[in-house]
Amino acid sequence: MNMRFRILGSSSKGNAALLTTNGARILVDVGFTVKKLESMLTGIGESLQSVDAIFLTHEHGDHSAGLRGLAKYPTITVFANEDTAEAAQRQTGYRLNWKIFETGSRFQFKDLEVSSFQIPHDAADPVGYTFTTGTGEPHSPKRSVVWCTDLGHAPRLIQEKIRDADVLVIESNYDSRMLDESPRPWSLKQRIKGRHGHLCNDATLELLSSIQQPRWQQIYLAHLSDECNKPSIVERCFAEFSKQRAFNLAVVDPINGLLPEYVF
Ligand SMILES: [Zn+2]
Ligand SMILES: [Zn+2]
Repeated sequence: MNMRFRILGSSSKGNAALLTTNGARILVDVGFTVKKLESMLTGIGESLQSVDAIFLTHEHGDHSAGLRGLAKYPTITVFANEDTAEAAQRQTGYRLNWKIFETGSRFQFKDLEVSSFQIPHDAADPVGYTFTTGTGEPHSPKRSVVWCTDLGHAPRLIQEKIRDADVLVIESNYDSRMLDESPRPWSLKQRIKGRHGHLCNDATLELLSSIQQPRWQQIYLAHLSDECNKPSIVERCFAEFSKQRAFNLAVVDPINGLLPEYVF
């Protein structure tokens, strides 16, 4: 059985990805309007109508904007922990079809095993996700996608989680110099740089370089700031790192982040 994974878009302005298996079709975050999500999905031969569930990382608008227009898709289940659901529900005009999980728990959704892990970020109870299929037996190899954006630093638990990903989505949010030189207010700069803010390019590089014997086949450097980062800067920063390794590394363009499907 294959997993098919596709980032629809990822930046400080909006995040969403489509993951499909034989039995499940899910979105990870919906940080675009429903109208935009509909057109993104139609453009790749998919539809929002056929999505079974949304897995929400946290309530910030660049991950949750699409929830507001979901009333016309009542069959879509929205998975989140309790604090995230509460915070996101307050921004939505009608009751969403919530399915609440405990952060850190492991559960089954159709043929996907889902687990969440806490990430240090300034939201109600933000999480990253691991989505796995397969039993690990020869006829059913394990395959996993780890989604980990919006984190101010990476505690040991996160290092362990990302090591075991076949496909890893990790943020490389800002270039320190571009952020320092940007006209943003001092308080916002401090928030972004803080322990519950975002990872800069150098911090993401340091994190990935520190992981011993990773499983990675494909890494997406995602959630770039559209004002304080550029794909060319990220590529330069990671050039040496990706040269020595067996996996493929792609930088998600914050302007046009729709990437080809990755099948594995
Ligand atoms: Zn956030
Ligand atoms: Zn974000």
